[in-house]
Amino acid sequence: MSDLTLAEPQTGAEPLELVPRLKGQGYAREHVERRREWVEEKTGSRLSHVGAYSIPSEEMRGNVENPIGTAQMPLGVAGPLAVKGTHAQGTFYVPLATTEGALVRSYERGMVTLTRAGGADVRVHADENRVAPVFFFDDVAGAHDFARSLNESFDEIRAEAESTTRHGRLLRLECHPIGREVIVGFCYHTADAQGMNMIVKATEHACRWIMRHTHARRFQVFSGFSSEKRAAGSLLLGGKGKRVTAGAHIPAGVVRAYLHTTPELLLDMWQHTMIGHVQANAIGYNGHYANGLAALFIACGQDVANVVNSSVGITNFEVTTGGDLYASVTLPSLTVATVGGGTGLGTSRECLEMLGCAGAGYAAKFAEIVAATLLAGELSMGAAIASGEFVEAHETYGRNRPGETRNDE
Ligand code: NAP
Repeated sequence: MSDLTLAEPQTGAEPLELVPRLKGQGYAREHVERRREWVEEKTGSRLSHVGAYSIPSEEMRGNVENPIGTAQMPLGVAGPLAVKGTHAQGTFYVPLATTEGALVRSYERGMVTLTRAGGADVRVHADENRVAPVFFFDDVAGAHDFARSLNESFDEIRAEAESTTRHGRLLRLECHPIGREVIVGFCYHTADAQGMNMIVKATEHACRWIMRHTHARRFQVFSGFSSEKRAAGSLLLGGKGKRVTAGAHIPAGVVRAYLHTTPELLLDMWQHTMIGHVQANAIGYNGHYANGLAALFIACGQDVANVVNSSVGITNFEVTTGGDLYASVTLPSLTVATVGGGTGLGTSRECLEMLGCAGAGYAAKFAEIVAATLLAGELSMGAAIASGEFVEAHETYGRNRPGETRNDE
């Protein structure tokens, strides 16, 4: 290929066969095709499905490098889901992209149960994201002085940070001195974006101001404290995304009719599950938030790696004094967006549109629908375990044994 440029430095070593770099970074459809053909030739594979896509390839710029096509997933829909939130009010049909058979059917059952019970109450308690750089000092006294005085310059630091973004708002700074260094949590409101590109840029800009105006020796923009895409106990306190709770009062008769169990058996099942979580030293106490999150995130163009922090949360089942069920989910660090990242790409945009959540002004509404969806999933899976139907449901819907023919419904 004449326009192939190698990015390797000249070391005298035998050149590696790098993926072709094509002019203009190679997002034109013919460049994507040429790169795919190169891979087919190198690997002896046939990439006809990878190459069959409808997203204009130029729109992949900023979302992926070296594009060769798209990865496709089965997409199902579950509902009706009645939501009584502050931002999401009404009945929704939720897109779920997955390869786990039985997952959509299970969420659907939970959603119908919630809807029959009058819907899920949902509230967003806090809405922020954070970056946590670390500053280094000569000694413990220097770190202590910095941590004690930094907030005196909050207005100047905020002005520096917000000069790089139209939407990001610096809410506060949290100092954590450790030995002779100080981790500083920069806590932002990021409007409808997930915000990491936005707030890392803003934070770095503010850190340079801090370096000019304090005695810090140097800084590193990431300290590992922010728990972006990493599980951590601190996520239970929030700070990485939206803190959302969803709950519903479900009459015992609805539990029996739709979930084939009783409030008492669900409570018993959950108490024993919690013992298992304690024994496993789990971070977060829920049945399977990651299932619904991954399926919704893939469908709606979220950064799927944020499932790790978003799935740290707590489920609860209670029996009311009247013998009904009260079920709730708490998601302290739910990271979702309706602007930026992959939210504008083809199928992602369409799935957000299904929920009335595409574009600016809808991130909180989307977060409430996500929380109600996860509540449905916890109810259905919990009930399947409590009633002994879990394996049967997966045998019916969830197996894909190679070589066997399937007779569906
Ligand atoms: P982005 O697509 O880089 O930026 C969002 C853009 O949307 C900003 O330019 C923002 O403008 C604009 N915008 C327009 N209307 C908006 C509204 N109503 N609310 C908020 N923003 C609005 O996305 P991002 O959310 O900052 O970053 C998400 C991406 O960062 C994900 O794809 C993720 O994978 C990636 N990521 C980056 C890092 C990192 O360290 N850089 C780490 C993890 C993940 P303004 O900027 O002018 O406000």
